[in-house]
Amino acid sequence: MNASTSLSKPAARRDCVFAAAGLKKEYDEGQVQALRGVDFQIMQGEFVAIIGPSGCGKSTLLQMLGALDLPSSGSLYYRDESVPDLKDPSGYRAQQIAFIFQAFHLLPTFTALENVQMPMLEAKWSREERVDRARQLLKSVGMEHRMGHFPSKLSGGERQRVAIARSLANRAPVLLADEPTGNLDSENAQLILELLVRLHQEQSMTVVMVTHDLEIAQKASRIIAMKDGRIVSDSAKN
Ligand code: ADP
Repeated sequence: MNASTSLSKPAARRDCVFAAAGLKKEYDEGQVQALRGVDFQIMQGEFVAIIGPSGCGKSTLLQMLGALDLPSSGSLYYRDESVPDLKDPSGYRAQQIAFIFQAFHLLPTFTALENVQMPMLEAKWSREERVDRARQLLKSVGMEHRMGHFPSKLSGGERQRVAIARSLANRAPVLLADEPTGNLDSENAQLILELLVRLHQEQSMTVVMVTHDLEIAQKASRIIAMKDGRIVSDSAKN
């Protein structure tokens, strides 16, 4: 039994990837309370959808998980490490976390093949190894026929495929996706979602996906619903 109310790491199973307790985030000197104390554990290999209306704190939560911003209080652990206390947050992001966003964030003056190589530039790979891996990644997302195209010559669905390939470059075990289908029509949204489910299964990635769309969220194995900075329900599919 754990009756502790301190900010130490919550009692967690060994396969726990994220553990948050009493996690709060305020902006504008406390005028905005984006997270009002959330508690959860996310296990290795889960596909979790975070759902809720605009402004309820979903993106803020994802930013905390990705060490893109610091919580105001509470605790957040990635495995055995306190995320706000990480000595090298950018190293954490590069090695442990794959990100995809609604807006794709591809570099416009680089081809698909070059965009996918970007995260590999920091690693000590030869150019040949980089190109080879980028080709494999683009193939795995069904983009082998568009490798030399610039983002402006790709459809929204294709851009997101390239962004997903890029996010996988460093073989991070965790994928954080912020409204990954938000800019896509429903057909392309379904295709991207199927791709995420397949990658999740084939690569045993832990996926945390923010969406405001319940239909999209249904693809996840667990849905955490938020409202006004709090978790209001947390349900797993059998
Ligand atoms: P969601 O992703 O659910 O739409 P967000 O996490 O983006 O919600 O925002 C939660 C609340 O925090 C909102 O009221 C939003 O306006 C506010 N907020 C988010 N980021 C900032 C910021 N950098 N500065 C001030 N307020 C912010």
